[in-house]
Amino acid sequence: IVQWGEKARKRTITDDLTGIYNRRFLDDAMITAFNNAVNMKSPLAVIMMDIDLFRQINDLLGHKIGDQIIKAIVNVYAEKLKEDDIIARFGGDEFTIILPDTDMNSAKSFAETVRKEVELLEFESLENTEYHITISQGISVYPKNAHSIKELKETADAALYKAKEEGRNKVVCSV
Ligand code: GH3
Ligand code: MG
Repeated sequence: IVQWGEKARKRTITDDLTGIYNRRFLDDAMITAFNNAVNMKSPLAVIMMDIDLFRQINDLLGHKIGDQIIKAIVNVYAEKLKEDDIIARFGGDEFTIILPDTDMNSAKSFAETVRKEVELLEFESLENTEYHITISQGISVYPKNAHSIKELKETADAALYKAKEEGRNKVVCSV
C-alpha cells in the first residue's frame, strides 16, 4: 500500500510526456527553495524558458516530432542539473528551472550553455534545412532582483518576455 501510494503521488507531480515535475509540484518546490534561500542567506535563481515559435514547428513537422523536440530540450537541461536543482513543466512549451545557491553570473552562464546546445541539436526532420530549434530564457535572482516568490516569478517572466521581444534565441537577465 505504501508503495502504491508513492507511485500515485509520483504520478500526480510528474509531467507525462517528459517525466519531469509538473506545475503542481513546482509551486511547492518554489516555496521550499525560497525558504531555504532566506534561511541560508544564499541566492536563488529562477529561469523561465519558452520554446521559440513552437506552434510553427508543430505545423511544419507535426505534433509527434514536436513532442520529441520537447523531450530533447528537457534532456539538455537534465544532464546539467545538480542534485538540488529542479526543472518543471510550467505548461505547454514553457518550463521553469530553479537553481538554489546560484547567483546571476552562474545562472546566466548556465542558461547560455543550454541555449547554445539546444541550437545545435540535430533532428532527422530538419536535416538538409537551415532551420534550428531555439529557446528563449528569462532569469531573475533572489535577493538581487526580487524579495518574494511572486516577485521572483514576475521578474523572470518579464525577462522572458523581453527575450522574445528582442528576437528570441536569447537569455535576458532581470535588472
Ligand atoms: P513564441 O516564440 O512566442 O513562444 O511562439 P510559440 O509559437 O512557441 O508560442 P505559442 O504559445 O503561441 O505556442 C506554443 C505552442 O506549443 C502551441 C502548442 O500547440 C504547442 N504545444 C504545447 N504543448 C505541446 C505538447 O505537449 N506537444 C507539442 N508537440 N506541442 C505542444
Ligand atoms: Mg513558445
